[in-house]
Amino acid sequence: MIKTVTLPGGQQVPALGQGTWFMGEQAPRRAQEIEALRLGIDLGASLIDTAEMYGDGRTESMVGEALVGYRDKAFLVSKVYPHNASRRGVVEACERSLKRLRTDRLDLYLLHWRGSHPFEDTIAGFEALQAAGKIRHWGVSNLDTDDMEELLDAGGGACAVNQILYNPGRRGPEFDLIPFLEEQGIPVMAYSPIEQGRLPRGGALGSIARKHGVDPFQVALAWVMRRPDMIAIPKAGKAEHVRANVAAAALVLDAEDLAAIDAEFRPPARKRSLEML
Ligand code: NAP
Repeated sequence: MIKTVTLPGGQQVPALGQGTWFMGEQAPRRAQEIEALRLGIDLGASLIDTAEMYGDGRTESMVGEALVGYRDKAFLVSKVYPHNASRRGVVEACERSLKRLRTDRLDLYLLHWRGSHPFEDTIAGFEALQAAGKIRHWGVSNLDTDDMEELLDAGGGACAVNQILYNPGRRGPEFDLIPFLEEQGIPVMAYSPIEQGRLPRGGALGSIARKHGVDPFQVALAWVMRRPDMIAIPKAGKAEHVRANVAAAALVLDAEDLAAIDAEFRPPARKRSLEML
């Protein structure tokens, strides 16, 4: 069983989802990727994160194919480009995403990062989509604390999540962004939770992995999911990786493990600007 995170409004989602960046871009891998996504949903990692940006729409098309017969089991998240985030642009971009995704609604629609359209306009677009039943929730991505404050001042109190770069090597948001989101009751979605496979396999992650008989990346994922309001969305195009990631959701790190991770990956002692991949 994968633990759940409660969104503002009460909807429960699994703390482990599945990313899709770079999926659906290479024909020979497509069938394997579809199988991996379906396996993940069957195993409970039913939150699927995608974006209109990924593969210029090819990723959403692949996700749409993977969700044939699976749509009602999935919590489907997509993202709008900032340059499409005007009131009308959000609605039109969503219509295109829905078509590629072969569905009539998104469970969550995110502003991918902050652009030049005022938050008020983007929120109005999200609200129009909600009123039409085309999205259930909306949220943001890559917004630092000052941006979040502006969003809330602009009438963004219904923001359901902030999706940010977070893993043991990217702890900057712990200084003020994560505490701010906690205070506001807005869960965090951690992207690139294993730093696209570049986290070190040795050091603290390696020794903790040996102690628990698991893989170092599973330790990193368990570490991300240790927080009650944190959803990790690793991308895995291979079934073996999906199984490993789901198993990581059951791994509980003890105080000694957390201290070893703190010693190697120091928590932030001062504000650092939010990083993006
Ligand atoms: P990631 O999930 O940290 O890493 C993905 C890489 O790790 C893939 O190469 C994958 O290989 C490999 N992998 C996955 N599970 C593994 C395991 N158990 N053992 C060994 N290798 C494993 O990086 P990401 O794709 O950048 O981030 C995850 C998702 O977050 C994205 O796919 C996307 O949906 C989202 N994201 C959002 C933003 C944003 O701006 N909002 C930015 C970046 C990412 P295989 O594919 O070969 O299995």
